[in-house]
Amino acid sequence: MPGPLTIHMFPCLFDNYGFLVHSEETGETAAIDTPDGGEIEKQCQEQGWTLTHILNTHHHPDHVGGNAHLIQVCNPVVIGHEKDKARIPGLTRGVNDGEEFEFAGHAIKVIETPGHTIGHIIYHIPSAKAAFVGDTLFVMGCGRLFEGTAAQMHESLSAIAHLPDETQLYCAHEYTLSNGKFALTVEPENADLQAYMEKAKSLREAGIPTVPTTVAQEKLINPFIRAGSSERLGEIRTAKDNF
Ligand code: ZN
Ligand code: FE
Repeated sequence: MPGPLTIHMFPCLFDNYGFLVHSEETGETAAIDTPDGGEIEKQCQEQGWTLTHILNTHHHPDHVGGNAHLIQVCNPVVIGHEKDKARIPGLTRGVNDGEEFEFAGHAIKVIETPGHTIGHIIYHIPSAKAAFVGDTLFVMGCGRLFEGTAAQMHESLSAIAHLPDETQLYCAHEYTLSNGKFALTVEPENADLQAYMEKAKSLREAGIPTVPTTVAQEKLINPFIRAGSSERLGEIRTAKDNF
């Protein structure tokens, strides 16, 4: 059995989260996306960790913006979707849907989740009961459809919903309160949603992140996961864009 992984998360930029995954046993450290290279460098220093890997979920600047800086500072392996190699700075290893690679003795599974972008991937670490979902899923929400279709997002969210219930979902943004406001217009009678919103409000008032969420929780409160069809998801997504 490989030594356990520690997940360290911290706010970055305006409403992004940065994540570091570290193995005490091997000394390896992975950043999931690089919203802010300087901040990630500082967080590694504070923990006494050396960055060895970058795992990019997609090519948007608030997810790859720190790649160049971190490559200069510590030359990590940079992993991202093979098809995004032209738009992920410094990509050294392209991966594809269903592929599995090893990090510090742990298997990391790549799941392609198009919708927000084409080439968006999420990283599932079964041994850590964790998945890093980038901008595909947010608490009570999902990413905007910049490149993909509602049908693709529907499939992508279904893939997340089929992960084990206890899986912790690490979303890349703290959008919870505004997502919740909208979610309540879609499902005003949803008691789980109402109860969760109260909890989220007190967490945010106390300055506590609402991330990670879990698969079990999102199945109860996320209107996009609960949409049931790509047509319905498309309607809700359009309504949210205009909310
Ligand atoms: Zn994005
Ligand atoms: Fe983003």
